[in-house]
Amino acid sequence: ETFAQIDRLEPTVGAFLSLFRDEATARARDVDCRIAAGEPVGPLAGVPIAVKDVLCTTFGATTCGSRMLERFHSPYDATAIRKLLDAGAVIVGKTNMDEFAMGSSTENSALGRTVNPWAPDRVPGGSSGGSAAAVAARLCPVALGSDTGGSIRQPASFCGVVGLKPTYGRVSRYGLVAYGSSLDQIGPFGRTVADVALLMSVIAGHDPADSTSVDENVAPVRDYLDGLDTPVEGLRVGVAPAFNAGAEASVRAALDAALDVYRGAGAQIVEIDMPHLDYAIAAYYVIATAEASSNLSRYDGVHYGYRTPDPADYVEVYTKSREEAFGQEVKRRIMLGTYALSSGYYDAYYLKALKVRNLIRGDFVQAFQKCDAIVMPVAPTTAFKIGEKVDDPLKMYLGDIYTISANLAGIPGISVPCGLDENSLPIGLQVLTPAFSEAKLLRIARMHE
Ligand code: GLN
Repeated sequence: ETFAQIDRLEPTVGAFLSLFRDEATARARDVDCRIAAGEPVGPLAGVPIAVKDVLCTTFGATTCGSRMLERFHSPYDATAIRKLLDAGAVIVGKTNMDEFAMGSSTENSALGRTVNPWAPDRVPGGSSGGSAAAVAARLCPVALGSDTGGSIRQPASFCGVVGLKPTYGRVSRYGLVAYGSSLDQIGPFGRTVADVALLMSVIAGHDPADSTSVDENVAPVRDYLDGLDTPVEGLRVGVAPAFNAGAEASVRAALDAALDVYRGAGAQIVEIDMPHLDYAIAAYYVIATAEASSNLSRYDGVHYGYRTPDPADYVEVYTKSREEAFGQEVKRRIMLGTYALSSGYYDAYYLKALKVRNLIRGDFVQAFQKCDAIVMPVAPTTAFKIGEKVDDPLKMYLGDIYTISANLAGIPGISVPCGLDENSLPIGLQVLTPAFSEAKLLRIARMHE
């Protein structure tokens, strides 16, 4: 059934970079047999799932949407992939993405083009655009993505599905190809908050292979479905009107309507001040590019992936391999990041950005003393037209204003559908809560559903 839907719609949507038709069918049959034989099966037994092609799998290629890794086959599975398989999930394919997760529209993929299932002339968002589009087009009920600065929440918002970025350290990053290591998190997409909660229960937890994954004695993993439907009592919802003013009128109207829903559920709306969030884009694009420039130095034509066919000497092995296989946006970011880290500029840019990051973290600490959750837009606009921003990287970066702070602060954030704009395009509502309070976050998001 899943593949019938994929056959029907995938030629238009273009959500996948690879499909595992035979393997998935065999696996689904195997799960059926086990159920028929009364054998125990996991919580995701037989559930079809799509995973972003930034997660290492021993089956198929792991391309990151890049020519550099077009033929790269991972020798190991990411921990999140392992957990899915152990839970009985059926991985149907790997989804399209901006090259190395750098972008907000999936247009930076070197290997495919994905459209928004709601409007084929619009982008699905990014960088996990393929995963969001797959769920929105009902090609599969759930998917995994990664979020460094909004790459789960923004495409979820553009495609009208639910997308969660967990707390930094909640899900193991082992086997997630690194972009900005201090910001990256893996997270689920689904049609409903409940689907996302179920997936979260499967993928969360400590992993000795990722030293930044958090000890469960410090922050225990919950069954995120447990009590999901119980409204949060005495809920205080924080809003920062000045910060939200930058969003389009339709987005602000949807946010106001969402606040009414919470008010109707007995919540108290509290005004908060987030003075440093205006600097989030500047800080993020220094920190993320700095980390990326370091992480991407491993693609040298020797260790992984593409190697130039005819190098004159060993220097050309590096330079030509990188020149030929990296796309424009990736090169731009490597240059930005290398510059920000170079001696003489480090203090002025990188160190300064870290200080701003700390101030942003402080804004959240202060705000969460006054409220249980903060709601804000996911993006200033709904899905924009394909090609509209490709020639203007700064314009593309500015669209990340509402999502990147959660990554800088390490806190969880979710995007839930909250209405349509005048073109019938979906609008997402973002809910943010303190670190490791995903259970509460999901319950609050659920109250709005
Ligand atoms: N759009 C942001 C960027 O280009 C975020 C991407 C992401 O979260 N991976 O960096």
